[in-house]
Formats: sequence, structure tokens, C-alpha cells
Amino acid sequence: METPENEIFRDSIGTINEEGKRAWVYPKKPKGAYYDYRKWVSYILLIFLFSAPFIKINGNQFLMFNVLERRFNIFGFPFWPQDFHLFVIMMIIGVVFVALFTVAFGRLFCGWICPQTIFMEMVFRRIEYWIDGDRGKQIRLNKQPWNAEKIRKRVLKWFIFAVISFLIANIFLAYLIGSDRLIRYIIDGPFSHLSTLISLLIFTAVFYFIYAWFREQVCIIACPYGRLQGALLDNKSIVVAYDHKRGEKEKGRAKFKKNEDRALSGKGDCIDCFQCVQVCPTGIDIRNGTQLECVNCTACIDACDHMMESVNLPKGLIRYASEDNINKKAKFTFSPRLKGYTAILGILTAVLIGMLFLRNDIEANVLRLPGQLYEHKEGNIISNVYTYKLVNKTNNDIANIHFKLLSHNGKIEVVSHKELTVPKRDLIEGTLFIEINQSALSGDKDRLKIGVYSDEKLIETTVTGFLGPRSYR
Ligand code: SF4
Ligand code: SF4
Repeated sequence: METPENEIFRDSIGTINEEGKRAWVYPKKPKGAYYDYRKWVSYILLIFLFSAPFIKINGNQFLMFNVLERRFNIFGFPFWPQDFHLFVIMMIIGVVFVALFTVAFGRLFCGWICPQTIFMEMVFRRIEYWIDGDRGKQIRLNKQPWNAEKIRKRVLKWFIFAVISFLIANIFLAYLIGSDRLIRYIIDGPFSHLSTLISLLIFTAVFYFIYAWFREQVCIIACPYGRLQGALLDNKSIVVAYDHKRGEKEKGRAKFKKNEDRALSGKGDCIDCFQCVQVCPTGIDIRNGTQLECVNCTACIDACDHMMESVNLPKGLIRYASEDNINKKAKFTFSPRLKGYTAILGILTAVLIGMLFLRNDIEANVLRLPGQLYEHKEGNIISNVYTYKLVNKTNNDIANIHFKLLSHNGKIEVVSHKELTVPKRDLIEGTLFIEINQSALSGDKDRLKIGVYSDEKLIETTVTGFLGPRSYR
């Protein structure tokens, strides 16, 4: 069956042409109130993004995601792999929050906060407008032969893109390995840390590829969040939407004729000027309804408002609205789905806060040395050998650490250390022996409770197994 003309847009995406090749998007430079607000939001976010790895709270980097060494700082709080359960809860909270937010406000995140949109539209695209000019000039420049002007503009643009990509890669690295280490590496000189330099250049190449060429395809093809929209949005979600009732009326959209009265003619308020299409960075026509490609960037709102003003019609033909708002003039309501997500989010957040308060300052692990049995010593003493690991999650050294058996009579002897100190935000590992009289054992596999003390203060307890002779069962 042949697709009706007004449904053809469903058969393809705006950035792929009929031969299946990339249709390059040359969006017109947005102008208007929303674009101005978005610029301010982007300045704040860019300042935050570039400064967060260099902000310290109690000596901790404000945000750090050192996956290589499995050390993380979130809002200045250090987290360790031992806090993995907290991470899992945070991730679940993140997912529920995103779902809740999307059900209510569509892709507000994509248009206003997503780093991809911020860098693409507020950094790289603006440089492109500055060098190549607006849409028309860009199209012309692309078609013109490689003359001096084109070479100059292209080389300048690509050079600036490469420099910014390198800068972003450095910031990315500061989040990954820590800003202190990054600065140290820079002072040492790049060739002293060749592997880091190679990683940095790979990141730079990836960012350059994304912003110079891949662009909106990240949102359309690669981003899983965009794909979720179909499942999360409903007819109460607020999205950037074309008011088709008003835009089309009984006789549909039509070009504007001077001095006409649209209220009498039965024509819709859409004057078919295509400004909303020309500004769209993902190359779609929002008048076809909510689409996967739409990142809710609001550029079409600004473009349409400008056109409405110039033909003396009310603004808001394209606006933030839900389907119900457009079809039934319904106001925003807190739907049962939203209530459900909010309740889950509230519970998870309460659990997380509780767990954060219960989190120990020090984490102790005492594990039997693999492959070792017990040793039978003089005076009926059974000895087991262990490795221990102490993680200090605080910003102060913890000194005078010693272990005590809490569940049995016996003694713990730490090998090679007289006095244990765990430096701040660090860990120590070592070996210890536990010796217990056979008569105090209840079987061949006892469970021991060990207390970790700093001076005389109990700071952590942990459990471990103890092997003894089978005959004592
Ligand atoms: S349709 Fe409008 S809001 Fe959506 S991406 Fe295009 S310009 Fe932005
Ligand atoms: S900018 Fe507004 S008036 Fe112009 S085509 Fe788009 S919806 Fe219609």
C-alpha cells in the first residue's frame, strides 16, 4: 500500500536522503527568547563542567570518576568499591528520576542540559556560524569549489574544533584520573606519560569526530535515552509541540497573504514558512508531531514565535504543551504513573540517605589466606593466617589501629607492623595471625567476629572464618 503523502516522513529520518546517504543539516541560527535563556543555562553548565574537577571539598575533588583505580568522589564525598551498593542505589535513583522527569517533561534534559547539546549547539555550532555564516552561506560554501576562501574557513574551523576537542578531552581526563594528577602530568611533560598522552589523543579524536561530523546522529542513532522516549512519553507529557488544531484548522496550513484574515478564511495559523524546519538541528518538521529525532531544543518555538509576531498572530503555535493540552485544552495533571514514580523515587532516596549516614568511616576486610590450613602450635593453640585490608574513607589519618577478637578468647598478631595508621583516603593491606586455644573452638569451622579499634575506640567490626581440627567438632 502506498504511504499517504502526509505520512511519508515516517518512512525515513530527516538526516538520511533517498539514496540512504547522510543528508547534512544546515540549521538556521536560532534567535529568540528561548535561545537566550538556553545560552545562559549553557554558560552556567559549561563553567560547572570545566571547574568541577578543580574544586576541592575537604581536600577531595568535587567530582571524580576514577574507574581505573575504582575511586569516586561525588559532591566531595569519597566512595570506594566497597560502597558499590550505594552506587547501585544511586544509579537506580538516576534511572527512576530520568523516567519520572521524562514522563512529566519529555526531553527537557536533552534540550537544556545534555552535554552533547550544550557542546554542539552552544559551542561548536556557534563557532561555525561565526566562521561560515548562517544556513544560506554554509550551503553555498559547501557547494563552492576549494578556493582560497573555502580553504581558509575550513582550516580555521577544523583547527579551532580540534583545539576545543583537546581541551574537552583534558577535562574529561581530569574527571577520570583526578585534576591533581593531570596537572602533574602536564608539568612533567606529555612524553613522560606516553600512555596517558595516547588516551588523551584518542579522546580528542572522538570528540572531534562527534562535533565536526557525527553531530545530531549521536541523538538519533547512538543515544539510548532518545530511544526510550516512545516508552516513556504519554499524552500528558509536556514536549515541544506544534498546535495542529490551531495551525491547520479546517482548511489546513497555507502561505500568508497580505491583509488576509485567517479567522474568517478557515485556514490554519501556520503560514507554511518552513522557518521551524530550517532552524531544526536534527532536520525534522515538528508539524509532523513528536518524533524520535526531536531533542526539544526549542529553536522551532523561537522561529515560529518570530513569524507569528511578524504576521500579527498570537505566539505559541509551537510551544511546550502536552497532546492533551493541544487536543482537549487539558491542564498539566499529576497522573497515576507520575505518582508511582514519585513514590518509588522518594523511597529510594530515603534508603540512600539512611545508608549514607550509616556508612562507616573505615572498611575492614579480613580473609583467610587461600590454600592455607591451620597450624597446630604448642599449648593447644590453633593458628590461622589472614590477609587484611583497611580502607580509610575519611579526610583524616586514622592512627593506632589494632584488632581484637570479639567472639572468642584468643589473640591477633599483625605481621611486620607495630602500629597501624591508615592514611586519609587511602588503604593499607597486610598479613595477620589469629591464635585460639582449641578448647575455645566450637567446631572445625568457626565464625569469628573481629573488632577494629583506633586507640580504644571501636571503629569497625568484621567477620571471618577460622579453621580448626575436625576432631573438635
Ligand atoms: S523539532 Fe524543534 S525542538 Fe525539536 S529538535 Fe527540531 S528545532 Fe529542536
Ligand atoms: S514556523 Fe510556524 S508558521 Fe512557519 S511553518 Fe513552522 S509552524 Fe508554520
